[in-house]
Amino acid sequence: MNGILPWQGQQWRQLQERHAAGRLPHALLLAGVAGTGKRQFATSLAGALLCRYRKGEGFACGDCPACIRFRAGSHPDFMALHPRDEGRAITVDQARAVGEFLAVKSHYEGGRVVLLAPAESLNRAAANCLLKTLEEPAPDTLLLLVTNRPGALPATIRSRCQQVGFAPPARHVALEWLASHAEVAQGEGELLLDLAAGAPLEALRLAGEGVLERRAQMLEEFGQLSAGRLDPVPVARLWLERGDAAQALFWLSSWVLDILRLKQSRRPPLLANRDRVDLLGEIARYTDSVELVRYLERVVQLRHQGQIALNMQLQLEELLVAWSALAGVVRR
Ligand SMILES: [Zn+2]
Repeated sequence: MNGILPWQGQQWRQLQERHAAGRLPHALLLAGVAGTGKRQFATSLAGALLCRYRKGEGFACGDCPACIRFRAGSHPDFMALHPRDEGRAITVDQARAVGEFLAVKSHYEGGRVVLLAPAESLNRAAANCLLKTLEEPAPDTLLLLVTNRPGALPATIRSRCQQVGFAPPARHVALEWLASHAEVAQGEGELLLDLAAGAPLEALRLAGEGVLERRAQMLEEFGQLSAGRLDPVPVARLWLERGDAAQALFWLSSWVLDILRLKQSRRPPLLANRDRVDLLGEIARYTDSVELVRYLERVVQLRHQGQIALNMQLQLEELLVAWSALAGVVRR
Protein backbone atom coordinates (compact mmCIF):
# COMPACT_ATOMS: atom_id res chain seq x y z
CA MET A 1 0.00 0.00 0.00
CA ASN A 2 0.93 3.63 -0.40
CA GLY A 3 2.45 5.04 2.72
CA ILE A 4 0.19 3.22 5.13
CA LEU A 5 0.99 -0.02 6.90
CA PRO A 6 -0.68 -3.34 6.06
CA TRP A 7 -2.81 -3.22 9.24
CA GLN A 8 -4.15 0.29 8.69
CA GLY A 9 -6.38 -0.36 5.68
CA GLN A 10 -9.63 -0.15 7.61
CA GLN A 11 -8.87 3.23 9.19
CA TRP A 12 -7.73 4.53 5.82
CA ARG A 13 -10.86 3.41 3.98
CA GLN A 14 -13.18 4.82 6.61
CA LEU A 15 -11.54 8.23 6.51
CA GLN A 16 -11.51 8.26 2.70
CA GLU A 17 -15.20 7.48 2.57
CA ARG A 18 -15.95 10.30 4.95
CA HIS A 19 -13.73 12.66 3.01
CA ALA A 20 -15.48 11.75 -0.25
CA ALA A 21 -18.83 12.42 1.42
CA GLY A 22 -17.57 15.76 2.72
CA ARG A 23 -17.93 14.58 6.29
CA LEU A 24 -14.37 14.75 7.54
CA PRO A 25 -14.31 16.59 10.88
CA HIS A 26 -12.01 19.51 11.66
CA ALA A 27 -9.93 17.53 14.09
CA LEU A 28 -8.96 13.88 14.34
CA LEU A 29 -7.26 12.24 17.30
CA LEU A 30 -5.24 9.24 16.16
CA ALA A 31 -4.84 7.22 19.32
CA GLY A 32 -3.33 3.86 20.19
CA VAL A 33 -0.34 1.87 21.38
CA ALA A 34 3.15 3.22 20.61
CA GLY A 35 5.00 1.65 17.72
CA THR A 36 2.04 0.84 15.48
CA GLY A 37 2.70 3.57 12.91
CA LYS A 38 0.15 6.28 13.73
CA ARG A 39 2.45 9.13 12.81
CA GLN A 40 3.26 7.55 9.47
CA PHE A 41 -0.47 7.18 8.85
CA ALA A 42 -1.09 10.81 9.74
CA THR A 43 1.66 11.97 7.38
CA SER A 44 0.24 9.87 4.53
CA LEU A 45 -3.23 11.24 5.20
CA ALA A 46 -1.95 14.82 5.21
CA GLY A 47 -0.08 14.23 1.94
CA ALA A 48 -3.14 12.66 0.34
CA LEU A 49 -5.42 15.54 1.33
CA LEU A 50 -3.01 18.10 -0.11
CA CYS A 51 -2.35 16.21 -3.36
CA ARG A 52 -4.13 17.61 -6.42
CA TYR A 53 -4.39 14.37 -8.40
CA ARG A 54 -5.21 11.66 -5.91
CA LYS A 55 -5.04 8.06 -7.04
CA GLY A 56 -7.49 5.25 -6.44
CA GLU A 57 -8.14 4.54 -2.76
CA GLY A 58 -7.33 8.17 -2.07
CA PHE A 59 -3.53 7.95 -1.97
CA ALA A 60 -1.34 10.88 -2.97
CA CYS A 61 -0.08 10.75 -6.58
CA GLY A 62 3.49 11.54 -5.52
CA ASP A 63 4.29 13.57 -8.67
CA CYS A 64 2.20 16.75 -8.65
CA PRO A 65 3.68 20.09 -7.45
CA ALA A 66 1.79 19.73 -4.14
CA CYS A 67 3.22 16.24 -3.53
CA ILE A 68 6.75 17.36 -4.40
CA ARG A 69 6.55 20.30 -2.03
CA PHE A 70 4.99 18.15 0.69
CA ARG A 71 7.80 15.62 0.43
CA ALA A 72 10.37 18.41 0.54
CA GLY A 73 8.77 19.68 3.74
CA SER A 74 7.89 23.02 2.17
CA HIS A 75 4.18 22.77 1.39
CA PRO A 76 2.71 26.15 2.41
CA ASP A 77 -0.61 24.61 3.52
CA PHE A 78 0.95 22.04 5.83
CA MET A 79 2.28 22.55 9.32
CA ALA A 80 3.87 19.92 11.58
CA LEU A 81 4.14 20.58 15.27
CA HIS A 82 6.50 18.62 17.52
CA PRO A 83 8.33 19.43 20.76
CA ARG A 84 11.50 21.37 19.95
CA ASP A 85 13.52 18.82 21.93
CA GLU A 86 12.54 15.19 22.30
CA GLY A 87 10.64 14.53 25.50
CA ARG A 88 9.92 18.24 26.09
CA ALA A 89 6.60 20.06 25.92
CA ILE A 90 4.94 21.72 22.95
CA THR A 91 4.85 25.33 24.09
CA VAL A 92 2.25 28.05 23.87
CA ASP A 93 4.16 30.05 21.25
CA GLN A 94 4.18 26.95 19.06
CA ALA A 95 0.43 26.50 19.57
CA ARG A 96 -0.09 30.19 18.77
CA ALA A 97 1.72 29.67 15.47
CA VAL A 98 -1.04 27.21 14.51
CA GLY A 99 -3.66 29.94 14.88
CA GLU A 100 -1.56 32.32 12.80
CA PHE A 101 -0.99 29.66 10.15
CA LEU A 102 -4.72 28.98 9.87
CA ALA A 103 -5.60 32.68 9.75
CA VAL A 104 -3.95 32.93 6.34
CA LYS A 105 -5.87 31.71 3.29
CA SER A 106 -4.76 28.44 1.75
CA HIS A 107 -2.11 28.81 -0.98
CA TYR A 108 -3.35 26.04 -3.21
CA GLU A 109 -7.00 25.24 -3.77
CA GLY A 110 -6.93 22.34 -1.32
CA GLY A 111 -7.39 22.71 2.40
CA ARG A 112 -4.80 23.05 5.11
CA VAL A 113 -3.49 20.37 7.39
CA VAL A 114 -1.80 20.60 10.78
CA LEU A 115 -0.10 17.53 12.26
CA LEU A 116 0.58 17.62 15.98
CA ALA A 117 2.54 14.82 17.65
CA PRO A 118 2.73 13.66 20.34
CA ALA A 119 -0.41 15.50 21.39
CA GLU A 120 0.07 14.67 25.07
CA SER A 121 3.18 16.84 25.09
CA LEU A 122 1.10 20.04 24.83
CA ASN A 123 1.63 21.94 28.03
CA ARG A 124 -1.36 23.52 29.74
CA ALA A 125 -1.02 26.96 28.16
CA ALA A 126 -0.46 25.41 24.73
CA ALA A 127 -3.53 23.20 25.17
CA ASN A 128 -5.66 26.22 26.10
CA CYS A 129 -4.41 28.09 23.09
CA LEU A 130 -5.12 25.15 20.77
CA LEU A 131 -8.58 24.82 22.27
CA LYS A 132 -9.54 28.19 20.78
CA THR A 133 -8.51 26.92 17.35
CA LEU A 134 -10.57 23.77 17.87
CA GLU A 135 -13.61 25.73 19.03
CA GLU A 136 -13.63 28.05 16.02
CA PRO A 137 -12.26 25.91 13.22
CA ALA A 138 -11.15 27.66 10.04
CA PRO A 139 -12.84 26.34 6.88
CA ASP A 140 -11.15 23.53 4.94
CA THR A 141 -8.86 22.71 7.79
CA LEU A 142 -7.86 19.40 9.32
CA LEU A 143 -5.99 19.08 12.58
CA LEU A 144 -4.36 15.68 13.07
CA LEU A 145 -3.45 14.99 16.68
CA VAL A 146 -1.41 11.85 17.34
CA THR A 147 -1.13 10.28 20.78
CA ASN A 148 -0.08 7.10 22.57
CA ARG A 149 -1.88 8.23 25.70
CA PRO A 150 -5.25 9.84 24.93
CA GLY A 151 -6.01 9.84 28.67
CA ALA A 152 -3.16 12.28 29.25
CA LEU A 153 -4.84 14.92 27.07
CA PRO A 154 -7.20 17.51 28.59
CA ALA A 155 -10.80 16.30 28.26
CA THR A 156 -11.68 19.60 26.57
CA ILE A 157 -9.27 18.83 23.72
CA ARG A 158 -10.33 15.20 23.48
CA SER A 159 -14.01 16.04 23.25
CA ARG A 160 -13.44 18.34 20.27
CA CYS A 161 -11.67 15.68 18.21
CA GLN A 162 -13.04 12.57 16.60
CA GLN A 163 -11.00 9.64 17.75
CA VAL A 164 -9.56 7.03 15.40
CA GLY A 165 -8.22 3.96 17.21
CA PHE A 166 -5.04 2.07 16.27
CA ALA A 167 -4.56 -1.35 17.88
CA PRO A 168 -1.45 -3.50 17.37
CA PRO A 169 -1.92 -5.77 14.35
CA ALA A 170 -2.63 -9.50 14.50
CA ARG A 171 0.56 -11.41 15.25
CA HIS A 172 0.89 -13.11 11.87
CA VAL A 173 0.45 -9.77 10.08
CA ALA A 174 3.14 -8.16 12.24
CA LEU A 175 5.51 -11.11 11.71
CA GLU A 176 5.05 -11.02 7.96
CA TRP A 177 5.78 -7.30 7.90
CA LEU A 178 8.86 -7.70 10.11
CA ALA A 179 10.19 -10.52 7.93
CA SER A 180 10.16 -8.17 4.93
CA HIS A 181 12.83 -5.98 6.54
CA ALA A 182 16.53 -6.66 6.11
CA GLU A 183 17.29 -5.66 9.72
CA VAL A 184 15.28 -8.60 11.02
CA ALA A 185 17.20 -11.86 10.71
CA GLN A 186 15.26 -15.00 9.98
CA GLY A 187 13.59 -16.41 13.06
CA GLU A 188 14.07 -13.26 15.15
CA GLY A 189 10.64 -11.76 14.47
CA GLU A 190 8.83 -13.61 17.26
CA LEU A 191 11.31 -12.59 19.90
CA LEU A 192 11.43 -8.97 18.78
CA LEU A 193 7.66 -8.75 18.74
CA ASP A 194 7.44 -10.19 22.26
CA LEU A 195 9.97 -7.65 23.42
CA ALA A 196 8.00 -4.83 21.79
CA ALA A 197 4.68 -6.00 23.29
CA GLY A 198 3.28 -6.65 19.82
CA ALA A 199 4.09 -3.23 18.32
CA PRO A 200 5.81 -3.84 14.95
CA LEU A 201 7.57 -0.49 14.52
CA GLU A 202 9.02 -0.76 18.00
CA ALA A 203 10.18 -4.31 17.17
CA LEU A 204 11.90 -3.00 14.06
CA ARG A 205 13.58 -0.24 16.02
CA LEU A 206 14.92 -2.80 18.48
CA ALA A 207 16.24 -4.94 15.62
CA GLY A 208 18.13 -1.93 14.29
CA GLU A 209 19.67 -1.33 17.70
CA GLY A 210 21.16 -4.79 17.98
CA VAL A 211 19.13 -5.62 21.08
CA LEU A 212 19.09 -9.33 20.33
CA GLU A 213 22.89 -9.53 20.11
CA ARG A 214 23.14 -7.92 23.54
CA ARG A 215 20.53 -10.32 24.86
CA ALA A 216 22.45 -13.35 23.54
CA GLN A 217 25.56 -12.14 25.32
CA MET A 218 23.69 -11.44 28.55
CA LEU A 219 21.97 -14.80 28.46
CA GLU A 220 25.33 -16.49 28.11
CA GLU A 221 26.57 -14.59 31.17
CA PHE A 222 23.38 -15.41 33.04
CA GLY A 223 24.05 -19.08 32.39
CA GLN A 224 27.63 -18.75 33.66
CA LEU A 225 26.38 -16.88 36.71
CA SER A 226 23.83 -19.59 37.44
CA ALA A 227 26.53 -22.24 37.19
CA GLY A 228 28.74 -20.31 39.63
CA ARG A 229 31.40 -19.63 37.00
CA LEU A 230 31.01 -15.82 37.07
CA ASP A 231 30.78 -13.35 39.93
CA PRO A 232 27.55 -11.34 40.15
CA VAL A 233 29.03 -7.90 40.86
CA PRO A 234 31.18 -7.56 37.72
CA VAL A 235 28.32 -9.01 35.67
CA ALA A 236 25.94 -6.34 36.96
CA ARG A 237 28.47 -3.67 36.10
CA LEU A 238 28.92 -5.10 32.61
CA TRP A 239 25.17 -5.18 31.95
CA LEU A 240 24.77 -1.58 32.97
CA GLU A 241 27.69 -0.51 30.81
CA ARG A 242 26.32 -2.31 27.79
CA GLY A 243 22.70 -1.26 27.90
CA ASP A 244 20.21 0.37 30.14
CA ALA A 245 19.01 -1.05 33.42
CA ALA A 246 15.39 -1.29 32.26
CA GLN A 247 16.42 -3.70 29.55
CA ALA A 248 18.52 -5.82 31.92
CA LEU A 249 15.52 -6.11 34.24
CA PHE A 250 13.20 -6.90 31.36
CA TRP A 251 15.37 -9.82 30.27
CA LEU A 252 15.93 -11.06 33.79
CA SER A 253 12.19 -11.21 34.48
CA SER A 254 11.57 -12.85 31.12
CA TRP A 255 14.15 -15.60 31.79
CA VAL A 256 13.02 -16.30 35.35
CA LEU A 257 9.40 -16.49 34.19
CA ASP A 258 10.38 -18.99 31.51
CA ILE A 259 12.34 -21.03 34.05
CA LEU A 260 9.17 -21.19 36.15
CA ARG A 261 7.14 -22.26 33.14
CA LEU A 262 9.71 -24.95 32.39
CA LYS A 263 9.34 -26.26 35.93
CA GLN A 264 5.62 -26.79 35.31
CA SER A 265 6.04 -28.56 32.02
CA ARG A 266 8.88 -29.67 29.77
CA ARG A 267 7.07 -28.20 26.81
CA PRO A 268 5.17 -25.17 28.03
CA PRO A 269 2.89 -23.60 25.42
CA LEU A 270 3.96 -20.08 26.36
CA LEU A 271 7.66 -19.40 26.31
CA ALA A 272 9.24 -16.06 25.48
CA ASN A 273 12.76 -17.43 25.07
CA ARG A 274 12.05 -20.46 22.92
CA ASP A 275 15.50 -20.34 21.35
CA ARG A 276 17.23 -21.07 24.69
CA VAL A 277 15.14 -23.86 26.18
CA ASP A 278 18.36 -25.83 26.65
CA LEU A 279 19.90 -23.35 29.07
CA LEU A 280 16.72 -22.28 30.89
CA GLY A 281 15.47 -25.88 31.18
CA GLU A 282 18.76 -26.87 32.78
CA ILE A 283 18.43 -24.08 35.37
CA ALA A 284 14.81 -25.12 35.99
CA ARG A 285 16.05 -28.58 37.02
CA TYR A 286 17.98 -27.36 40.04
CA THR A 287 16.05 -24.29 41.24
CA ASP A 288 13.12 -24.10 43.62
CA SER A 289 9.70 -22.83 42.49
CA VAL A 290 8.90 -20.90 45.68
CA GLU A 291 12.26 -19.15 45.59
CA LEU A 292 11.83 -18.39 41.90
CA VAL A 293 8.42 -16.80 42.44
CA ARG A 294 9.78 -14.67 45.25
CA TYR A 295 12.71 -13.64 43.09
CA LEU A 296 10.49 -12.77 40.14
CA GLU A 297 8.35 -10.55 42.35
CA ARG A 298 11.46 -8.68 43.37
CA VAL A 299 12.56 -8.13 39.78
CA VAL A 300 9.10 -7.03 38.69
CA GLN A 301 8.86 -4.59 41.58
CA LEU A 302 12.17 -3.04 40.62
CA ARG A 303 11.06 -2.84 36.99
CA HIS A 304 7.99 -0.85 37.96
CA GLN A 305 10.10 1.63 39.86
CA GLY A 306 11.83 2.12 36.51
CA GLN A 307 14.01 5.13 35.90
CA ILE A 308 13.33 6.62 39.29
CA ALA A 309 15.45 3.99 41.01
CA LEU A 310 18.53 6.11 41.60
CA ASN A 311 20.96 3.48 42.83
CA MET A 312 20.29 1.13 39.94
CA GLN A 313 23.84 -0.20 39.91
CA LEU A 314 23.61 -1.27 43.53
CA GLN A 315 20.13 -2.73 43.05
CA LEU A 316 21.19 -4.77 40.04
CA GLU A 317 24.27 -6.00 41.91
CA GLU A 318 22.10 -7.12 44.82
CA LEU A 319 19.70 -8.79 42.46
CA LEU A 320 22.43 -10.80 40.76
CA VAL A 321 24.05 -11.70 44.09
CA ALA A 322 20.65 -13.04 45.16
CA TRP A 323 20.37 -14.96 41.92
CA SER A 324 23.78 -16.58 42.40
CA ALA A 325 22.71 -17.64 45.87
CA LEU A 326 19.35 -18.93 44.65
CA ALA A 327 20.89 -20.99 41.85
CA GLY A 328 23.90 -22.09 43.91
CA VAL A 329 22.36 -22.88 47.30
CA VAL A 330 19.54 -25.00 45.93
CA ARG A 331 21.95 -27.00 43.79
CA ARG A 332 24.00 -28.10 46.78
ZN1 LIG B 1 0.00 14.60 -5.89
